[in-house]
Amino acid sequence: MLKFQEATKCVSGSIDVSTRPKPLIARRYALLQKLGSGSFGTVYLVSDKKAKQGEELKVLKEISVGELNPNETVQANLEAQLLSKLDHPAIVKFHASFVEQDNFCIITEYCEGRDLDYKIQEYKEAGRTFPESQIIEWFIQLLLGVDYMHERRILHRDLKSKNIFLKSNLLKIGDFGVSRLLMGSCDLATTLTGTPHYMSPEALKHQGYDTKSDICMLNKSPSLRPSAVEILKIPYIDEQLQHLMCRYSEITLEGKNLNCQKEAAYIINAVQKKIHLQTLRALSEVQKMTPRERMRLRKVQAADEEARKLKKLVEEKYEENNKRMQELRLRNFQQLTVNVLHEFDDRASENLPESQPILFPDLGALGSSMEDTGS
Ligand code: ADP
Ligand code: MG
Repeated sequence: MLKFQEATKCVSGSIDVSTRPKPLIARRYALLQKLGSGSFGTVYLVSDKKAKQGEELKVLKEISVGELNPNETVQANLEAQLLSKLDHPAIVKFHASFVEQDNFCIITEYCEGRDLDYKIQEYKEAGRTFPESQIIEWFIQLLLGVDYMHERRILHRDLKSKNIFLKSNLLKIGDFGVSRLLMGSCDLATTLTGTPHYMSPEALKHQGYDTKSDICMLNKSPSLRPSAVEILKIPYIDEQLQHLMCRYSEITLEGKNLNCQKEAAYIINAVQKKIHLQTLRALSEVQKMTPRERMRLRKVQAADEEARKLKKLVEEKYEENNKRMQELRLRNFQQLTVNVLHEFDDRASENLPESQPILFPDLGALGSSMEDTGS
């Protein structure tokens, strides 16, 4: 088998004119394209020859480890194995890891939408902005993913837009390269990793890192920062989450795009496990329904949506009327005040005696009289 570096050269070189079959890495991955290189190594798009049809595209991250000592290899592999157990729609799936030459290789899910940082830059350059609904949707997905890993005592330690990926416009947390597993009962992992701009104050001060250090909220004290699940319970976020669930269930029902449908069903299940709402629980039944039942559900949902719009309209009208009433009251009150003052003015001029000029004593005269008495 060709050395990993040689295989890499074939792909990153200008043209691979050879007619011989492309060499496989770990006997199953064919390099297709270099996606980029990061602080820890190079990232490639690969085709997994042993994957099911339609699931071949994966990402290979090659981390150069130089003279890796065997114990470290074991540790890294253990960590990778644990990460491979993470299974959540908002987390980049970790498929496998192995050591090839001097490289520690990680195989993960491929996110064709690239990273969020790239997306933001792209929008910025085009002078475009993201709609609020999109930001909230991504924020909720992010919270679900963070909560999932924190429940499993796994810290990310480097959450930032560059490490958040997009697949079918769904957000996925990735690049756990620097994450560490919390060991035993100790909640603070003291190794310093991460990117300074996104670091929490406690990580910067080397005061350790716990689940709260993964939260981007602005309170300096970790204990005062909410956890991901607490943020999910904020009424506004909870309301948005329910809207999102309705949308996802519609995607599932329409079933236009199989991949999207699978992802949506996956997210619905993940949320259902987390937030035990009556409506969400019912959604899991969607998969088992007959087309007729689905149609009925869709009608009920449409009616619900209509009712929600109507309620909003009524609330707006009520608000508008209220405002108008207040304005009217204010105007009447001002009128009344003006009248009262006017009446008061009238009465004042009628009843009070005419103002009298204030008389000042004649100081000159006072002086002369004092002279008279003093003498
Ligand atoms: P960094 O060290 O700066 O975080 P990475 O090594 O994580 O960089 O990534 C390098 C490049 O590969 C980036 O452009 C990133 O968007 C891309 N990339 C990494 N992982 C994936 C993935 N799972 N799917 C698609 N692109 C990826
Ligand atoms: Mg990265």
